[in-house]
Amino acid sequence: MTSKVLKTASNKASQFQESVIREMSRLAAQHKAVNLAQGLPDFPCPAELKEAVTKAVFDDINQYAITWGDKPLRQAIADKSKKFLNLTVDPETEITVTCGATEAMVATMIALVDAGEEVIVFEPFYENYGPDSILSGATPRYVKLYPPNWSFVEEELAAAFNEKTRAIIINTPHNPTGKVFAKHELEAVAKLCQKWGVLCFTDEIYEHILYDNNKHVAMATLPGMEDLTVTINSLSKTYSVTGWRVGWAVARPEFTLPIRKVHDFLTVGAPAPLQRAGVTAVNMGDKYYKELSEEYSARRDTMMEILDTVGISYYKPEGAYYMFCDIGDRGFESDLAFTKYLVKDIGVAVVPGGSFFGADNKLKHRYVRFCFSRRDETLKAARERLLKLKSDKK
Ligand code: PLP
Repeated sequence: MTSKVLKTASNKASQFQESVIREMSRLAAQHKAVNLAQGLPDFPCPAELKEAVTKAVFDDINQYAITWGDKPLRQAIADKSKKFLNLTVDPETEITVTCGATEAMVATMIALVDAGEEVIVFEPFYENYGPDSILSGATPRYVKLYPPNWSFVEEELAAAFNEKTRAIIINTPHNPTGKVFAKHELEAVAKLCQKWGVLCFTDEIYEHILYDNNKHVAMATLPGMEDLTVTINSLSKTYSVTGWRVGWAVARPEFTLPIRKVHDFLTVGAPAPLQRAGVTAVNMGDKYYKELSEEYSARRDTMMEILDTVGISYYKPEGAYYMFCDIGDRGFESDLAFTKYLVKDIGVAVVPGGSFFGADNKLKHRYVRFCFSRRDETLKAARERLLKLKSDKK
Protein backbone atom coordinates (compact mmCIF):
# COMPACT_ATOMS: atom_id res chain seq x y z
CA MET A 1 0.00 0.00 0.00
CA THR A 2 1.26 3.45 -0.92
CA SER A 3 2.47 5.75 1.87
CA LYS A 4 1.34 8.77 -0.14
CA VAL A 5 -1.38 10.86 1.53
CA LEU A 6 -4.40 10.36 -0.67
CA LYS A 7 -5.90 13.49 -2.11
CA THR A 8 -9.64 13.40 -1.52
CA ALA A 9 -11.01 16.15 -3.75
CA SER A 10 -9.95 17.81 -6.97
CA ASN A 11 -9.01 21.47 -6.92
CA LYS A 12 -12.31 22.30 -8.57
CA ALA A 13 -14.44 20.39 -6.06
CA SER A 14 -12.49 21.94 -3.17
CA GLN A 15 -13.44 25.43 -4.29
CA PHE A 16 -17.13 25.22 -3.50
CA GLN A 17 -19.26 24.04 -0.60
CA GLU A 18 -22.12 21.63 -0.40
CA SER A 19 -25.38 23.35 -1.43
CA VAL A 20 -26.65 25.40 1.53
CA ILE A 21 -30.21 25.14 0.23
CA ARG A 22 -30.29 21.35 0.25
CA GLU A 23 -28.43 21.30 3.59
CA MET A 24 -31.25 23.41 5.08
CA SER A 25 -33.79 20.79 3.98
CA ARG A 26 -31.81 18.18 5.89
CA LEU A 27 -31.72 20.41 9.00
CA ALA A 28 -35.46 20.97 8.67
CA ALA A 29 -36.06 17.21 8.79
CA GLN A 30 -33.70 16.82 11.77
CA HIS A 31 -35.51 19.51 13.80
CA LYS A 32 -38.98 18.64 12.51
CA ALA A 33 -39.22 22.20 11.27
CA VAL A 34 -41.68 23.51 8.69
CA ASN A 35 -39.53 23.58 5.58
CA LEU A 36 -39.65 26.92 3.76
CA ALA A 37 -36.09 26.43 2.52
CA GLN A 38 -35.77 24.49 -0.70
CA GLY A 39 -37.54 25.75 -3.83
CA LEU A 40 -39.96 22.94 -4.43
CA PRO A 41 -43.74 22.64 -4.15
CA ASP A 42 -45.10 20.39 -1.38
CA PHE A 43 -48.36 19.97 -3.31
CA PRO A 44 -49.01 17.41 -6.05
CA CYS A 45 -48.29 17.99 -9.72
CA PRO A 46 -51.29 18.06 -12.12
CA ALA A 47 -53.07 14.70 -12.34
CA GLU A 48 -52.71 14.56 -16.13
CA LEU A 49 -48.94 14.57 -15.72
CA LYS A 50 -49.06 11.55 -13.42
CA GLU A 51 -51.18 9.77 -16.02
CA ALA A 52 -48.81 10.78 -18.80
CA VAL A 53 -45.78 9.30 -16.98
CA THR A 54 -47.60 6.06 -16.29
CA LYS A 55 -48.67 5.86 -19.91
CA ALA A 56 -45.13 6.52 -21.13
CA VAL A 57 -43.78 3.70 -18.96
CA PHE A 58 -46.45 1.27 -20.16
CA ASP A 59 -45.91 2.41 -23.75
CA ASP A 60 -42.35 1.13 -23.27
CA ILE A 61 -40.62 4.49 -23.42
CA ASN A 62 -38.05 3.10 -21.03
CA GLN A 63 -34.75 3.12 -22.92
CA TYR A 64 -32.39 5.99 -23.67
CA ALA A 65 -34.04 8.75 -25.64
CA ILE A 66 -32.01 10.44 -28.39
CA THR A 67 -29.24 12.06 -26.37
CA TRP A 68 -30.30 15.64 -27.18
CA GLY A 69 -33.94 14.91 -26.36
CA ASP A 70 -37.09 13.00 -27.24
CA LYS A 71 -38.34 14.36 -30.57
CA PRO A 72 -41.97 14.99 -29.48
CA LEU A 73 -40.74 16.98 -26.48
CA ARG A 74 -38.39 19.09 -28.61
CA GLN A 75 -41.28 19.74 -30.99
CA ALA A 76 -43.55 20.75 -28.08
CA ILE A 77 -40.87 23.13 -26.75
CA ALA A 78 -40.48 24.70 -30.21
CA ASP A 79 -44.28 25.09 -30.53
CA LYS A 80 -44.49 26.71 -27.08
CA SER A 81 -41.66 29.14 -27.93
CA LYS A 82 -43.60 30.17 -31.03
CA LYS A 83 -46.88 30.51 -29.16
CA PHE A 84 -45.66 32.43 -26.10
CA LEU A 85 -42.61 34.29 -27.38
CA ASN A 86 -43.11 34.33 -31.15
CA LEU A 87 -39.67 32.78 -31.51
CA THR A 88 -39.02 30.27 -34.28
CA VAL A 89 -36.82 27.52 -32.89
CA ASP A 90 -35.69 24.50 -34.92
CA PRO A 91 -36.26 21.41 -32.75
CA GLU A 92 -33.70 19.45 -34.82
CA THR A 93 -30.77 21.81 -34.37
CA GLU A 94 -31.51 24.32 -31.63
CA ILE A 95 -32.83 22.43 -28.59
CA THR A 96 -30.98 20.21 -26.13
CA VAL A 97 -33.05 18.44 -23.49
CA THR A 98 -31.08 18.03 -20.26
CA CYS A 99 -31.43 16.81 -16.67
CA GLY A 100 -33.11 19.97 -15.45
CA ALA A 101 -32.10 23.59 -15.88
CA THR A 102 -29.22 22.67 -13.57
CA GLU A 103 -27.55 20.49 -16.16
CA ALA A 104 -28.54 22.86 -18.97
CA MET A 105 -26.60 25.70 -17.31
CA VAL A 106 -23.50 23.72 -16.38
CA ALA A 107 -23.36 21.99 -19.79
CA THR A 108 -23.72 25.40 -21.46
CA MET A 109 -20.92 26.87 -19.35
CA ILE A 110 -18.58 23.93 -19.96
CA ALA A 111 -19.41 23.84 -23.67
CA LEU A 112 -19.08 27.55 -24.39
CA VAL A 113 -16.74 29.14 -21.85
CA ASP A 114 -12.99 28.67 -21.60
CA ALA A 115 -10.84 28.79 -18.49
CA GLY A 116 -9.74 32.36 -17.87
CA GLU A 117 -12.76 33.90 -19.55
CA GLU A 118 -15.12 35.99 -17.46
CA VAL A 119 -18.81 35.46 -16.91
CA ILE A 120 -20.84 38.36 -15.51
CA VAL A 121 -23.28 37.39 -12.77
CA PHE A 122 -25.79 39.70 -11.07
CA GLU A 123 -25.50 39.48 -7.32
CA PRO A 124 -27.42 38.15 -5.39
CA PHE A 125 -27.59 35.09 -7.64
CA TYR A 126 -28.99 31.57 -7.63
CA GLU A 127 -26.29 29.65 -5.82
CA ASN A 128 -25.52 27.14 -8.60
CA TYR A 129 -23.94 29.79 -10.83
CA GLY A 130 -20.89 29.96 -8.53
CA PRO A 131 -19.97 26.25 -8.81
CA ASP A 132 -20.98 26.31 -12.51
CA SER A 133 -18.32 28.97 -13.06
CA ILE A 134 -15.69 26.98 -11.17
CA LEU A 135 -16.51 23.76 -13.05
CA SER A 136 -16.17 25.51 -16.39
CA GLY A 137 -13.01 27.35 -15.31
CA ALA A 138 -14.70 30.73 -15.81
CA THR A 139 -14.04 33.67 -13.54
CA PRO A 140 -17.32 35.08 -12.21
CA ARG A 141 -17.50 38.87 -12.28
CA TYR A 142 -20.24 40.15 -10.03
CA VAL A 143 -22.42 43.14 -10.74
CA LYS A 144 -24.48 44.25 -7.77
CA LEU A 145 -28.24 44.46 -7.65
CA TYR A 146 -29.11 47.07 -5.02
CA PRO A 147 -32.01 47.00 -2.57
CA PRO A 148 -34.74 48.03 -2.18
CA ASN A 149 -35.64 47.32 -5.84
CA TRP A 150 -32.69 45.08 -6.66
CA SER A 151 -31.77 47.27 -9.62
CA PHE A 152 -28.29 47.65 -11.08
CA VAL A 153 -26.32 50.75 -11.96
CA GLU A 154 -25.81 50.85 -15.74
CA GLU A 155 -22.30 52.31 -15.43
CA GLU A 156 -21.30 49.46 -13.12
CA LEU A 157 -22.65 46.92 -15.58
CA ALA A 158 -20.86 48.59 -18.49
CA ALA A 159 -17.61 48.61 -16.49
CA ALA A 160 -17.84 44.84 -15.97
CA PHE A 161 -17.60 44.12 -19.71
CA ASN A 162 -14.11 43.72 -21.17
CA GLU A 163 -12.10 41.71 -23.71
CA LYS A 164 -12.20 38.62 -21.48
CA THR A 165 -15.98 38.63 -21.02
CA ARG A 166 -17.54 35.60 -22.66
CA ALA A 167 -21.05 35.63 -21.22
CA ILE A 168 -23.52 37.18 -18.82
CA ILE A 169 -26.00 35.15 -16.79
CA ILE A 170 -29.51 36.54 -16.42
CA ASN A 171 -32.18 34.99 -14.24
CA THR A 172 -35.64 36.50 -14.58
CA PRO A 173 -37.94 36.16 -12.68
CA HIS A 174 -35.14 36.13 -10.16
CA ASN A 175 -34.24 33.75 -7.39
CA PRO A 176 -33.78 34.79 -4.56
CA THR A 177 -35.30 38.30 -4.77
CA GLY A 178 -38.44 37.80 -6.87
CA LYS A 179 -37.36 40.64 -9.14
CA VAL A 180 -38.63 40.59 -12.72
CA PHE A 181 -36.09 42.36 -14.92
CA ALA A 182 -37.73 45.27 -16.74
CA LYS A 183 -37.48 45.48 -20.51
CA HIS A 184 -35.24 48.55 -20.35
CA GLU A 185 -32.84 46.70 -18.00
CA LEU A 186 -32.62 43.75 -20.39
CA GLU A 187 -32.14 46.16 -23.29
CA ALA A 188 -29.18 47.69 -21.46
CA VAL A 189 -27.69 44.19 -21.10
CA ALA A 190 -28.46 43.38 -24.75
CA LYS A 191 -26.73 46.54 -25.95
CA LEU A 192 -23.56 45.64 -24.09
CA CYS A 193 -23.67 42.00 -25.25
CA GLN A 194 -23.83 43.21 -28.85
CA LYS A 195 -21.15 45.83 -28.36
CA TRP A 196 -18.69 43.31 -26.89
CA GLY A 197 -19.79 40.11 -28.71
CA VAL A 198 -20.81 38.51 -25.41
CA LEU A 199 -23.25 35.63 -24.99
CA CYS A 200 -26.24 35.74 -22.66
CA PHE A 201 -27.19 32.61 -20.70
CA THR A 202 -30.69 33.26 -19.47
CA ASP A 203 -32.39 31.12 -16.85
CA GLU A 204 -36.13 31.64 -17.28
CA ILE A 205 -37.54 28.78 -15.24
CA TYR A 206 -39.99 31.05 -13.37
CA GLU A 207 -41.33 32.67 -16.56
CA HIS A 208 -44.94 31.69 -15.78
CA ILE A 209 -44.89 32.59 -12.07
CA LEU A 210 -45.64 36.30 -12.19
CA TYR A 211 -47.63 38.70 -9.96
CA ASP A 212 -49.51 41.99 -10.36
CA ASN A 213 -49.58 41.88 -14.18
CA ASN A 214 -45.80 41.79 -14.44
CA LYS A 215 -44.69 40.60 -17.87
CA HIS A 216 -41.82 38.25 -18.57
CA VAL A 217 -39.46 39.51 -21.25
CA ALA A 218 -37.34 36.74 -22.78
CA MET A 219 -33.86 37.94 -23.67
CA ALA A 220 -33.93 36.06 -26.99
CA THR A 221 -36.88 38.20 -28.13
CA LEU A 222 -34.88 41.45 -28.01
CA PRO A 223 -33.56 42.64 -31.39
CA GLY A 224 -30.21 41.03 -32.22
CA MET A 225 -30.23 38.76 -29.15
CA GLU A 226 -31.62 35.55 -30.63
CA ASP A 227 -28.17 34.83 -32.06
CA LEU A 228 -26.35 35.51 -28.78
CA THR A 229 -28.69 33.90 -26.26
CA VAL A 230 -28.84 30.47 -24.68
CA THR A 231 -32.29 30.22 -23.12
CA ILE A 232 -32.52 27.78 -20.26
CA ASN A 233 -35.77 26.42 -18.94
CA SER A 234 -37.25 23.37 -17.31
CA LEU A 235 -40.41 21.51 -16.33
CA SER A 236 -39.51 21.78 -12.63
CA LYS A 237 -41.25 24.95 -11.50
CA THR A 238 -43.92 25.60 -14.13
CA TYR A 239 -45.42 22.13 -13.79
CA SER A 240 -44.49 21.37 -10.15
CA VAL A 241 -42.28 18.41 -11.03
CA THR A 242 -38.86 19.30 -9.63
CA GLY A 243 -38.04 15.59 -9.22
CA TRP A 244 -38.48 14.74 -12.88
CA ARG A 245 -35.18 16.33 -13.85
CA VAL A 246 -36.17 17.51 -17.32
CA GLY A 247 -34.94 20.85 -18.62
CA TRP A 248 -33.56 22.28 -21.83
CA ALA A 249 -31.26 24.79 -23.49
CA VAL A 250 -32.28 26.64 -26.66
CA ALA A 251 -29.53 28.20 -28.76
CA ARG A 252 -28.37 28.73 -32.32
CA PRO A 253 -27.08 25.47 -33.97
CA GLU A 254 -23.43 26.52 -33.66
CA PHE A 255 -23.84 26.79 -29.86
CA THR A 256 -26.23 23.85 -29.57
CA LEU A 257 -23.68 21.49 -31.12
CA PRO A 258 -21.07 21.86 -28.34
CA ILE A 259 -23.81 21.94 -25.67
CA ARG A 260 -25.14 18.62 -26.99
CA LYS A 261 -21.65 17.08 -26.95
CA VAL A 262 -21.02 18.07 -23.34
CA HIS A 263 -24.52 17.00 -22.31
CA ASP A 264 -24.06 13.58 -23.94
CA PHE A 265 -20.92 12.83 -21.94
CA LEU A 266 -22.28 14.26 -18.70
CA THR A 267 -25.58 12.38 -18.56
CA VAL A 268 -26.43 10.79 -21.97
CA GLY A 269 -29.95 12.05 -21.49
CA ALA A 270 -32.80 13.03 -19.22
CA PRO A 271 -35.17 10.21 -18.11
CA ALA A 272 -36.99 9.00 -21.24
CA PRO A 273 -40.53 8.40 -19.87
CA LEU A 274 -40.45 11.76 -18.11
CA GLN A 275 -39.40 13.49 -21.31
CA ARG A 276 -42.36 11.92 -23.10
CA ALA A 277 -44.72 12.94 -20.28
CA GLY A 278 -43.19 16.40 -20.57
CA VAL A 279 -45.02 16.76 -23.90
CA THR A 280 -48.32 16.79 -21.99
CA ALA A 281 -46.86 19.39 -19.61
CA VAL A 282 -45.48 21.75 -22.24
CA ASN A 283 -48.73 21.53 -24.24
CA MET A 284 -50.89 22.67 -21.29
CA GLY A 285 -53.48 25.26 -22.34
CA ASP A 286 -53.68 28.95 -21.38
CA LYS A 287 -56.03 28.14 -18.47
CA TYR A 288 -53.26 26.19 -16.76
CA TYR A 289 -50.82 29.10 -16.79
CA LYS A 290 -53.49 31.55 -15.65
CA GLU A 291 -54.42 29.34 -12.69
CA LEU A 292 -50.77 28.75 -11.84
CA SER A 293 -50.21 32.48 -11.52
CA GLU A 294 -53.43 32.99 -9.52
CA GLU A 295 -52.62 30.19 -7.09
CA TYR A 296 -49.12 31.54 -6.56
CA SER A 297 -50.51 35.05 -6.05
CA ALA A 298 -52.67 33.70 -3.21
CA ARG A 299 -49.64 31.96 -1.65
CA ARG A 300 -47.58 35.13 -1.97
CA ASP A 301 -50.32 37.13 -0.23
CA THR A 302 -50.43 34.59 2.60
CA MET A 303 -46.66 34.78 3.02
CA MET A 304 -46.73 38.59 2.99
CA GLU A 305 -49.43 38.60 5.68
CA ILE A 306 -47.31 36.29 7.85
CA LEU A 307 -44.18 38.40 7.48
CA ASP A 308 -46.11 41.65 8.04
CA THR A 309 -47.64 40.19 11.20
CA VAL A 310 -44.31 39.10 12.65
CA GLY A 311 -42.55 42.24 11.48
CA ILE A 312 -40.01 40.89 9.01
CA SER A 313 -39.35 43.22 6.10
CA TYR A 314 -39.16 41.87 2.57
CA TYR A 315 -39.06 42.80 -1.08
CA LYS A 316 -42.51 42.23 -2.58
CA PRO A 317 -41.89 39.61 -5.26
CA GLU A 318 -42.90 40.39 -8.83
CA GLY A 319 -42.30 36.79 -9.87
CA ALA A 320 -40.88 33.39 -8.76
CA TYR A 321 -41.81 32.02 -5.32
CA TYR A 322 -39.45 33.47 -2.74
CA MET A 323 -39.38 36.33 -0.24
CA PHE A 324 -35.96 37.82 0.29
CA CYS A 325 -36.07 39.27 3.79
CA ASP A 326 -33.86 41.83 5.45
CA ILE A 327 -33.08 40.59 8.98
CA GLY A 328 -30.26 43.07 9.54
CA ASP A 329 -32.14 44.83 12.36
CA ARG A 330 -33.12 41.75 14.34
CA GLY A 331 -30.06 41.65 16.55
CA PHE A 332 -28.45 38.51 15.17
CA GLU A 333 -24.78 38.23 14.35
CA SER A 334 -25.46 36.93 10.85
CA ASP A 335 -27.92 35.36 8.44
CA LEU A 336 -26.63 31.97 9.55
CA ALA A 337 -27.20 32.69 13.25
CA PHE A 338 -30.77 33.81 12.49
CA THR A 339 -31.41 30.78 10.30
CA LYS A 340 -30.15 28.36 12.95
CA TYR A 341 -32.28 30.03 15.61
CA LEU A 342 -35.29 29.87 13.30
CA VAL A 343 -34.90 26.18 12.55
CA LYS A 344 -34.05 25.05 16.10
CA ASP A 345 -36.04 27.40 18.37
CA ILE A 346 -38.93 28.50 16.17
CA GLY A 347 -39.24 25.42 13.98
CA VAL A 348 -39.12 26.98 10.52
CA ALA A 349 -36.35 26.33 8.01
CA VAL A 350 -35.29 29.08 5.58
CA VAL A 351 -32.12 29.70 3.58
CA PRO A 352 -29.38 32.05 4.84
CA GLY A 353 -28.94 34.80 2.28
CA GLY A 354 -25.14 34.52 2.29
CA SER A 355 -25.34 31.66 -0.18
CA PHE A 356 -26.64 34.07 -2.84
CA PHE A 357 -23.74 36.54 -2.65
CA GLY A 358 -20.06 36.45 -3.52
CA ALA A 359 -17.54 36.64 -0.69
CA ASP A 360 -17.09 40.41 -0.63
CA ASN A 361 -20.63 41.75 -0.75
CA LYS A 362 -21.48 43.85 2.32
CA LEU A 363 -25.09 42.62 2.21
CA LYS A 364 -24.01 38.99 2.44
CA HIS A 365 -25.20 38.44 5.99
CA ARG A 366 -28.31 40.66 6.08
CA TYR A 367 -30.84 38.46 4.29
CA VAL A 368 -32.69 35.17 4.48
CA ARG A 369 -34.91 33.56 1.86
CA PHE A 370 -38.38 32.20 2.56
CA CYS A 371 -39.90 29.88 -0.08
CA PHE A 372 -43.69 29.95 -0.30
CA SER A 373 -44.42 27.23 -2.89
CA ARG A 374 -46.33 25.39 -0.21
CA ARG A 375 -49.81 24.11 0.62
CA ASP A 376 -52.06 26.35 2.76
CA GLU A 377 -51.63 23.99 5.73
CA THR A 378 -47.84 24.30 5.53
CA LEU A 379 -47.98 28.09 5.41
CA LYS A 380 -50.46 28.06 8.29
CA ALA A 381 -48.17 25.85 10.38
CA ALA A 382 -45.27 28.18 9.57
CA ARG A 383 -47.40 31.16 10.63
CA GLU A 384 -48.18 29.67 14.03
CA ARG A 385 -44.53 29.01 14.69
CA LEU A 386 -43.32 32.35 13.37
CA LEU A 387 -45.72 34.18 15.68
CA LYS A 388 -43.34 33.15 18.47
CA LEU A 389 -40.88 35.59 16.93
CA LYS A 390 -43.03 38.44 18.20
CA SER A 391 -42.76 37.40 21.85
CA ASP A 392 -39.20 36.16 21.41
CA LYS A 393 -37.87 39.40 19.93
CA LYS A 394 -34.18 39.66 20.76
N1 PLP B 1 -32.51 27.92 -11.82
C1 PLP B 1 -33.08 28.59 -10.81
C2 PLP B 1 -33.09 30.09 -10.86
C3 PLP B 1 -33.65 27.92 -9.73
O1 PLP B 1 -34.24 28.61 -8.75
C4 PLP B 1 -33.64 26.50 -9.70
C5 PLP B 1 -34.19 25.75 -8.58
O2 PLP B 1 -34.51 26.25 -7.53
C6 PLP B 1 -33.02 25.84 -10.78
C7 PLP B 1 -32.48 26.57 -11.82
C8 PLP B 1 -32.97 24.35 -10.84
O3 PLP B 1 -33.83 23.91 -11.87
P1 PLP B 1 -33.99 22.40 -12.28
O4 PLP B 1 -34.83 21.72 -11.25
O5 PLP B 1 -34.68 22.45 -13.59
O6 PLP B 1 -32.63 21.82 -12.37
